[in-house]
Amino acid sequence: MKKKTPVVSRYAKSQTLFTKARDLMPGGVSSPVRSFKSVGRDPLFIQSGEGSMVLDVDGNSYIDYVMSYGPLILGHCHPAVQAAVAKQISHGSSFGCCSASEVELAGMICQAMPAVEMIRFVNSGTEAVMSALRLARGFTGRKLIVKMAGGYHGHVDALLVQAGSGATTHGHPSSPGIPENVTANTLVIPFNDLPAAQAAFAKFGPQIAAIITEPVMGNIGVVLPQGGYLEGLRTLCDAAGALLIFDEVMTGFRVHPSGAQALHCIKPDLTCLGKIIGGGLPVGAYGGRRDIMNLVSPAGPVYQAGTLSGNPLAMQAGITTLRLLQDLDIYQRLDVLAKQLEDGLRQSAKAAQCAVSVQRCGSMFTPFFSPDGAPVHNYADALLCDQAAFSKFFQVLLDEGVLIPPSQFEAWFVSAAHSENDIEKTIALAEKAMRAVAEK
Ligand SMILES: *Cc1c(COP(=O)(O)O)cnc(C)c1O
Repeated sequence: MKKKTPVVSRYAKSQTLFTKARDLMPGGVSSPVRSFKSVGRDPLFIQSGEGSMVLDVDGNSYIDYVMSYGPLILGHCHPAVQAAVAKQISHGSSFGCCSASEVELAGMICQAMPAVEMIRFVNSGTEAVMSALRLARGFTGRKLIVKMAGGYHGHVDALLVQAGSGATTHGHPSSPGIPENVTANTLVIPFNDLPAAQAAFAKFGPQIAAIITEPVMGNIGVVLPQGGYLEGLRTLCDAAGALLIFDEVMTGFRVHPSGAQALHCIKPDLTCLGKIIGGGLPVGAYGGRRDIMNLVSPAGPVYQAGTLSGNPLAMQAGITTLRLLQDLDIYQRLDVLAKQLEDGLRQSAKAAQCAVSVQRCGSMFTPFFSPDGAPVHNYADALLCDQAAFSKFFQVLLDEGVLIPPSQFEAWFVSAAHSENDIEKTIALAEKAMRAVAEK
């Protein structure tokens, strides 16, 4: 029998690791999106990153637009962030006691975001949201939470609820392991649909503790709020005595130095943060009105705690990142680069006769393969996108050395480390990828 000559894949080492990983960890990953499952590929194992680039274990390099899903606004291995973390670790990594870094980072965030009068640090965005919901319920003495269809706020039980069919519905859990009674207090409405929000308040107003939403949706791909929508939510909350919670885990310090709330001039009662404020280390935070935050333990009765919360390594990475972001030229530059890519992707799509809606807020954006390139205003619109087209697009880009998020429903991130050359290269390769999509 003739022996097959083994094909040496340029992803061979990643594949070997994946085989081992699958045996040891569910799906071989620590977070589902990393599996590349929705784009029909095996995951990459990344060895290192520098600036705008990542290198996989097989030695392939990529222009990176995943950027750790948002935290790395300064790019990989920013020397100042590295130095701050190295310095801190030489003093110790965690004490279970107070440290000056917490006070410093808290001060920087409260200064940047006027709606955040006090803040509590936690270890992830999920934890921030979970704690903010508990606090909103504790403050109002009410049970119901309103969320947007498709809105992702981490893997908080009460918010892992699938959309109803347009109308306001009591949510059903979208994952096994979540009892119905946990999500029975979650109402789901479509984003950008003020009448749906009004209807929910007309029916349940006095029982609603809070609305939680991303001010700019980022976890169904980037979807901007339409004129007056966020204002309308603010008005509804005020009239009903409910709290408005902005989940700015992704948008905070990303779309504006004071968050999307500044961009849209809305003051939420509570704000959830994460990602950028940890400069690439695990972090989360929630903050807001002083009278509400003072209910958090030990100042008040709403319990919430954490062994590694506010740990000095994450605090130092965050402080250094936010300090560098005080140079507002960075936001200017990010906007210019992202706009260049947005325009370029549109032109590539046109040249390839591929229908795409490119939607952007600052340095986060998504090209949606929507029907006829129609704009995406909510989750239902996003679900109409051609996921097979996106997968093809992803695969061609990957093989050409451009790493984009492996899902139609994620945001791409441009960092301050990306160059015009990176962007131009990406646009050219995107045109190639879109031609491949159009050919099918
Ligand atoms: C990433 C994200 C979260 C979850 O944060 P983790 O740190 O992954 O738990 C929550 N909300 C939004 C809007 C996010 O983008």
